[in-house]
Amino acid sequence: MRPMAEHLVISFDNTEFAFEHKSEKELKRASFLFSSMGKPWLVKLGTRITPWAIRVGLPVKAIIRKTIFAQFVGGETLAETAKVAKKLGEYHVKVILDYGVEGGDDGEQGFDHSTDEFIRVITYAATQPNIPFMSIKVTGFARFTLLEKLDEMMHHAEGTLMKRYLKSIDTLPADEREEWHRVRHRMMRICEIAANKKIGVLVDAEESWIQDPVDALTILMMDSFNKERCVVYNTIQHYRHDRLQFLKDCYSAAHQRKFILGAKLVRGAYMEKERRRAAAQEYPSPIQPDKAASDNDYNAGVELCIENLDRIALIVASHNEYSNLLAVQLMQKKGLPLNHPQVHFSQLYGMSDNITFNLAHAGCSVSKYLPFGPIKDVIPYLMRRAQENTSVKGQTGRELVLIKKELERRKG
Ligand SMILES: Cc1cc2nc3c(=O)[nH]c(=O)nc-3n(C[C@H](O)[C@H](O)[C@H](O)COP(=O)(O)OP(=O)(O)OC[C@H]3O[C@@H](n4cnc5c(N)ncnc54)[C@H](O)[C@@H]3O)c2cc1C
Repeated sequence: MRPMAEHLVISFDNTEFAFEHKSEKELKRASFLFSSMGKPWLVKLGTRITPWAIRVGLPVKAIIRKTIFAQFVGGETLAETAKVAKKLGEYHVKVILDYGVEGGDDGEQGFDHSTDEFIRVITYAATQPNIPFMSIKVTGFARFTLLEKLDEMMHHAEGTLMKRYLKSIDTLPADEREEWHRVRHRMMRICEIAANKKIGVLVDAEESWIQDPVDALTILMMDSFNKERCVVYNTIQHYRHDRLQFLKDCYSAAHQRKFILGAKLVRGAYMEKERRRAAAQEYPSPIQPDKAASDNDYNAGVELCIENLDRIALIVASHNEYSNLLAVQLMQKKGLPLNHPQVHFSQLYGMSDNITFNLAHAGCSVSKYLPFGPIKDVIPYLMRRAQENTSVKGQTGRELVLIKKELERRKG
């Protein structure tokens, strides 16, 4: 029998639970990969050469498939990914399916195709016992430069986010207004099917210079589909210094309009790119002054959500042990069950198994964010993972220590 939530002490150091699902061979591969990613020069070289090698058709796919792809991606097809999802389910870990198309500029036909793919994923997820969510990127079905233009227009308009959004749409030239209607229609189709099939849609956050229209569109979807249960979730990047206030504003809007705010809290994955662009174009960086400021806002965001679960459905999407423990402790303090329907935890597939599997063992609702898709489409995602894991002091060091500890333990 599981102990009562308030008495349970969760530790992320238990490597037996963390890696039960991994064979020795898989652990050794992970150890090799994380050691390689700990070498900044190798990552720098790899992240420059790999996208180019794929583009010009060099035979690098086989090696990618066996290494970084196998570590961080579910498979090239839904059928391959289903095997990984099933295995995670055996350990009470759920799945957020992520069809890895992003920033595609394949034109209207490509965007319609991505929308159909998202819908295919939702339909498949609905047949599975442990796939309650799927994630989407608006850049998968909207032209990046149109999002950028709208964002820019919204910055020059006045009033609330929604007023600025509506004003900007109205001032778009007729052909672009039509184009935006098609984007809205695609989003609507996705959310409508997800609502019918009872699958949650997590809208990923990307670069800050396209985020305003993405936020406005997502809030409109929440207003339509989140009246009784949470179908649509927005992603809030706390490495931006304005996002804690944004979370508070969204909460007020949810109260006023009587919808449930779906809030997936992250720190943010595009820090270097954001800083580089801000410096090059000479505008103030949207990024927090330091890591401690990101951490403070993230943790304050978690607290705000757990205090207001009557209106908010929270996803703690983080590999930070403190933030995950904080969420658990706040729930325990309020006497909430760890599998509360409005609190979910998630880590990326291939990272922080010590958090995911120990949370699952304690009875929390937890999932792996599991991307899938053809190698060429998931390359940007893989390059972000490699860059994120370059610091031996940070996450990579922790992953390596835990994997080595488990390999030692298995030797007996
Ligand atoms: C399930 C899931 C979904 C995700 N979805 C998205 C998404 O939609 N959009 C997105 O952008 N990211 C997303 N991410 C990635 C996430 O934003 C982070 O890049 C990653 O999880 C690392 O942050 P952390 O909270 O795990 O922990 P930590 O390792 O504690 O934090 C590292 C993060 O802190 C921030 N940081 C580091 N140094 C500084 C500094 N000097 N100043 C300010 N901030 C700093 C950066 O954001 C960095 O990534 C997702 C992550 C997960 C687990």
